[in-house]
Amino acid sequence: MNINEAKIKVAALKSKIDQWAKEYYIHDMPSVDDTEYDLAMKQLKDLEQQFPKLVTSDSPTQKVGGTVSDKFEKYVHKKPMLSLADIFSWEEFEKFNKQVAKETGTVDNEYYAELKIDGLSVSLNYEKGILQNAVTRGDGKVGENVTTNVKTIKSIPLSITDKSTIEIRGEIFLSKKEFTKLNDERILKGEQLFANPRNAAAGTLRQLDSSIVAKRNLDAFLYYYLNDKDSQTNTQAKALAKIDSLGVKTNKEGRLCKTLEEVKAYIEEYTLKRSQLDYEIDGIVFKINNFNLHEQIGYTAKTPKWAVAYKFPAEVKETKLLDIFPTV
Ligand code: NAD
Repeated sequence: MNINEAKIKVAALKSKIDQWAKEYYIHDMPSVDDTEYDLAMKQLKDLEQQFPKLVTSDSPTQKVGGTVSDKFEKYVHKKPMLSLADIFSWEEFEKFNKQVAKETGTVDNEYYAELKIDGLSVSLNYEKGILQNAVTRGDGKVGENVTTNVKTIKSIPLSITDKSTIEIRGEIFLSKKEFTKLNDERILKGEQLFANPRNAAAGTLRQLDSSIVAKRNLDAFLYYYLNDKDSQTNTQAKALAKIDSLGVKTNKEGRLCKTLEEVKAYIEEYTLKRSQLDYEIDGIVFKINNFNLHEQIGYTAKTPKWAVAYKFPAEVKETKLLDIFPTV
């Protein structure tokens, strides 16, 4: 393929992805499934890697997907809320680990494995022990202040015992059970159905009427702890224990993986267990456990380089992608 052919394909991919992102992030109503979206994104990334001249700052590969609605007050995140780089195979994990090894000087890195909850991220800011605000990721830099709605979620405490300035981030989601209940009610009322629990959770959290939010039983798992004054909490394992000790809910399926064999075993185990969980997951997140290495390994504009999202291979719909580009 020459650069002119690539340019046409890149433009077509960008336009498709931008349209799908609008449906997903703004209207909470996707017209394609995530696998199709991920495949288009992967193809765009591959083309941009092959032809770096075609990379532009407005490319979906360069920015955190999401927008900030005017319905809510805007909030500037203290630290950007980033996305995660996706991988789809064990070979890609090994490649990621080798890249990490260049920075850390060893291939024997400790990873903390967590389920990738299919919901939407939230940032909780506690001051003097009180939940001051709760904010969506938005475009990564600026989010929507959805505090009133988040206060209706039972698993998020309005106050914690620690009085320091603490930010805790995690994922708000709707369980499979609550999702089925919600859609059943909508069938009876003749209302449009939600496509999946993730979109139902996102649509619910961005409701203007918090009494509707309260009825829908959103839930949350928190996984990120930021407290500038706390130097003791210096690993992801300790951060999760700390969040737990504050009475904030964490997911208990996570595990420290000390070897690549343990990483592989975790992937195999949860690929099988996925369907038995009462909430949707779309993959597994592997994070370098030692926080001291995070700054050393660094970030791109869109993702940390010290973590990766292993997406389940499941229903990879090659044919759909071919439909988009019959000539590929
Ligand atoms: P992402 O969902 O791929 O990954 C980053 C996010 O993962 C974080 O922001 C966080 O919210 C979440 N997460 C869940 N569990 C986590 C954990 N334990 N640790 C850290 N983070 C965790 O991020 P994205 O940039 O929003 O990616 C887009 C995703 O949305 C893709 O999966 C894509 O398929 C989907 N999408 C689908 C459509 C569509 O039309 N179907 C459109 C846009 C995006």
